[in-house]
Amino acid sequence: MSTVKVPDIGEFTEVPVIEVLVAVGDQVKAEDPLITLESEKATMDVPAPGDGTVEEILVAVGDTVSEGTAILRLSGDDGEADGADDGPSESQAEPTPEPESSPKSSTGGSGTGGRLVVLGSGPGGYTAAFRAADLGLEVVLVERYETLGGVCLNVGCIPSKALLHAARILTEADEAEEFGISFGKPEIDLGRLGAWKDEVVDKLTGGLAGLAKRRKIKVVTGTAAFTTPNTIDVDGTSIEFDHCIIAAGSRSIELPGIPDDERIIDSTGALELDGLPDRLLVVGGGIIGLEMACVYDALGSRVSVVELTDELIPGCDRDLVRPLQKRISERYETIMLGTRVAGVEAQKSGVKVSFEGEGAPESERYDKVLMAVGRRANGDLLEAEAAGVEVGSDGVIAVDEQRRSNVAHILAIGDITGGPMLAHKATHEGIVAAEVIAGEDVAYDPRSVPSVAYTDPEIAWTGLTETEAAEQGVKFEKGSFPWQASGRALATGRPEGLTKLLVDAESRRVIGAGVVGVNAGELIAEAALAIEMGANATDIGLTVHPHPTLSETMKFAAEVVEGVATDIYAPKRAPRR
Ligand code: FAD
Ligand code: NAD
Repeated sequence: MSTVKVPDIGEFTEVPVIEVLVAVGDQVKAEDPLITLESEKATMDVPAPGDGTVEEILVAVGDTVSEGTAILRLSGDDGEADGADDGPSESQAEPTPEPESSPKSSTGGSGTGGRLVVLGSGPGGYTAAFRAADLGLEVVLVERYETLGGVCLNVGCIPSKALLHAARILTEADEAEEFGISFGKPEIDLGRLGAWKDEVVDKLTGGLAGLAKRRKIKVVTGTAAFTTPNTIDVDGTSIEFDHCIIAAGSRSIELPGIPDDERIIDSTGALELDGLPDRLLVVGGGIIGLEMACVYDALGSRVSVVELTDELIPGCDRDLVRPLQKRISERYETIMLGTRVAGVEAQKSGVKVSFEGEGAPESERYDKVLMAVGRRANGDLLEAEAAGVEVGSDGVIAVDEQRRSNVAHILAIGDITGGPMLAHKATHEGIVAAEVIAGEDVAYDPRSVPSVAYTDPEIAWTGLTETEAAEQGVKFEKGSFPWQASGRALATGRPEGLTKLLVDAESRRVIGAGVVGVNAGELIAEAALAIEMGANATDIGLTVHPHPTLSETMKFAAEVVEGVATDIYAPKRAPRR
């Protein structure tokens, strides 16, 4: 009999036990999780150091433990039971060679069984891996970086939203002066703000590692490249697979001729908060550019934006962009539309940028320049040709409804399959791909994928835009509800918003929706559900919404479409159906 102790858990002490995963009499195998600990930063399992039977459990949920605390007694184990030298099960830093003896199955199209390799651990990859493991597949998850979570968790959605939250507090505090509350000039500790953002990221990525371990997913750290249709190489170690899901994501596009200079950054550099530039130029008026512009403006930089086309957030309806454009035109130094960056020169005193465009200055000098001109799929980095997988010149891997590539047992999901490059699209595809491999009859066929720009104000849309509906010749009716008539928006001091619904003129079903205003991103899900369920505007209008909320504006927009609105004057056009 031997005593299992808490292994090295880094800097943490007195960590609460949140779950005991075994009972007295249970047979466990080496690496089976025994108890789960939750520190401030991560959830982690303590694994069994060897095979054996649980004889006695020495801790309970709610107890706190540190390195060396005895947690249970194990008999008949064939390994060293003292777990003090084993790392916590949340990380596996080195590439792990695969056992030679694992079972193999056919490499045919769909079908179940065999080993699944998931290449990339972003929202697409980890979701696919977790779902596949839950469905009983043997899963190996390969990630080139030490932490799981991909762009979204490490250098995308999550850190950007943490900084946008700070930005919102700064601007709200500043604007409270309007109704008689002054806080004075804020003192910003950039180091602490950056550390807090990193803590948020660490908590999530650590949690993912714990979840992977509990599902017995083998996490291999290293850079993968295909060598045959059934093998990948990970830093010199060959891994065989029966099925593969490629979830290797995308990267920032680099414009040619831009000098290599630390003052010229991409979104990852911008999130590092390495000093606050006095003057910041954002190249690209898309979502990344405008979200980061919002952060730096709130922190105190003088921000300029240059956009090649004539509009910010191309592709989004203009009535939704207008309130954002109006607000940032008043706050930012310049917004140059229809303007091309003709040259960038790194000089001692700053980065000199020259422009070509009507009304644009010939050149200006900035302290930092953020390049945010789009992202490119990573298909060209995987030696996919060795597996026979076709990759487009844009790095995109084309897939069918089941997310299969041209090679039936190799599927692809997320940014690498092209737009929209959004985390929630990747996760949805991940679930479909895992279920397809498990033999389920499913397809990726959402009726709408919402987009949100977490700017101030936020812009959110889903389903068809007005432009798309017009281009496709879809006959629709529109109901717009201006937030000037929303009690909640007025009481929040931000009445510049708008909520609109598009309905099919014949079926009356909701086919599209858009919201601009504070918290628009939280409001759009109702319209996405309506579209997915085939609801019509009357369904939304007849649903009792809580008052006073911004969510009411969705009901009011539905009432405008149906001609039964009472909160604004919109003459009755039709009876309630
Ligand atoms: P990724 O998250 O890119 O993950 C791919 C993973 O594969 C990476 O971890 C990478 O290291 C790994 N990988 C690649 N090649 C290899 C290899 N050869 N070997 C091993 N591993 C490899 N989307 C939203 O929906 N909402 C947002 O608010 C949002 N904000 C964003 C903010 C920023 C600044 C950025 C840059 C993006 C944002 N996105 C947002 C987009 C979102 O991050 C992506 O759509 C999402 O991460 C795509 O997920 P994925 O799983 O396809 O790939
Ligand atoms: P984007 O394609 O959305 O915007 C890039 C912008 O740069 C476009 O407006 C384009 O016209 C402009 N541009 C291109 N070349 C230019 C040039 N030479 N000079 C000036 N402007 C130029 O790309 P992005 O903002 O980099 O974001 C990439 C992807 O990441 C997006 O497609 C989005 O799917 C995803 N993302 C999503 C979120 C979110 O959901 N909140 C946030 C960030 C990123």
